[in-house]
Amino acid sequence: MTEGATSRWWFGYDAQPQRVIFGPGRRREVAAEVDRLGAERAVLISGATTEIGDELAAVLDDRLAGRWDEFVQHVPVELAGRARQFVDERRADVVVTVGGGSATGLAKAIALTHRLPIVAVPTTYAGSEQTPIYGLTGGRDKQTGRDPIVQPVSVVYDTELTLVLPPEVTGPSAFNALAHSVEGIYAEGHNPVTTALALEAIGAIARSLPLVMERPDDLESRGELLYGAYLSGVVLGATSAGLHHKIAHVLGGTYDLVHADAHSVLLPHVVAFNAPALPAEFGRLATALGDPGGDPAVSLWELATASHVPTALAELKSQHEGVALSADDLAAVAQRVAAEAPPNPRPVDADGLLTLLEAAFAGRRPQS
Ligand code: NAD
Repeated sequence: MTEGATSRWWFGYDAQPQRVIFGPGRRREVAAEVDRLGAERAVLISGATTEIGDELAAVLDDRLAGRWDEFVQHVPVELAGRARQFVDERRADVVVTVGGGSATGLAKAIALTHRLPIVAVPTTYAGSEQTPIYGLTGGRDKQTGRDPIVQPVSVVYDTELTLVLPPEVTGPSAFNALAHSVEGIYAEGHNPVTTALALEAIGAIARSLPLVMERPDDLESRGELLYGAYLSGVVLGATSAGLHHKIAHVLGGTYDLVHADAHSVLLPHVVAFNAPALPAEFGRLATALGDPGGDPAVSLWELATASHVPTALAELKSQHEGVALSADDLAAVAQRVAAEAPPNPRPVDADGLLTLLEAAFAGRRPQS
């Protein structure tokens, strides 16, 4: 409970105004969304497949003022600069994105300086379209911030666009969404509304992800997964990143591990770490994960195993040769995370973190 509050039912919640349309085929309504804004010149940032970009360009028709196909994760400052110049040259009055968090992230970098509205068509489960959070990278430093101007004003979720998302993106991206919701249960800014959204999201993702991994073209399961990812983005936007994301960032930044792959490895172990401090909340989490009275850390680990996503830090690859995470590095990672840890329900110390990291490195079945 927040200091000073006398009741659990004492909270604030900044709900963000945003229009959402959801369902198979709704990408065809993107032009109408641009018209609703009174905009006439759209720059399209295409970050999914070339075919999907072509289709959106056709939907925009004579509103298309330019198309930008280049994107990189974590938005390098140099790329943002060139994309901003392109938007100037094309005299755009709206940015339309189709793709994952990388395409949305680039649009956010443009909106930040140009104060342009964004219409987003997300095709992964990252959830960036639901947050006022932006990030820019210069060298190895990532600078993040919050500004309501970068939050898309209109979001068009079209389940059909996710049918071709490959399993190696689907699984880790869905675990990224799960991590947003699980952390949203206890991270700074949480409240009964965000917890309700988080539990609904967790249930939707846990039910649908194994089905999607088995049958990637199952429209209904894809729909439920996208719905869970949407709500997880709302939760992240209203709360903040917690211990899980801090560990993922330290590992990603120092050892260049593929960020998204760390989520399925770490999440069960962070839940096991925090479980003693959150018996009531994690009881609800266990129910959302389909095992009332069970251990939510184990349910998450089993979900990862069933979804064929990584479960051991030892198996994660570095994006650069010669940089690898070894068991000998874990103590230093624990020290750094302990020094920079965000508020957490269970006090964080380097010894406790080292135990967590050793279990995650080996890919052991967690126990709360
Ligand atoms: P991504 O956008 O980089 O996409 C991953 C890959 O999937 C890319 O190669 C992309 O081309 C491909 N892809 C996307 N949609 C596809 C589709 N429908 N079919 C086939 N291929 C498709 O990855 P991501 O995980 O969506 O986003 C990661 C980035 O988002 C990171 O930079 C992360 O920091 C950021 N992020 C930001 C927030 C925020 O709130 N600001 C939230 C979550 C993630």
